[in-house]
Amino acid sequence: MPVTDPEKKQIAQKARLHMKICFTCGARNPMSATRCRKCHNGYLRLKNKTLGIKKT
Ligand SMILES: [Zn+2]
Repeated sequence: MPVTDPEKKQIAQKARLHMKICFTCGARNPMSATRCRKCHNGYLRLKNKTLGIKKT
């Protein structure tokens, strides 16, 4: 089911990309996380926002 509303699409893309990825285990963590929820290390990176967006 395609999302037709461009505003909703933007929100969805933001939600999908606004997360932190653990460097060691690759787990997704919430933006508010300071440590990985899986392996508890502090090496978190932001998901690359430019790579994930293909079509707008
Ligand atoms: Zn981890």
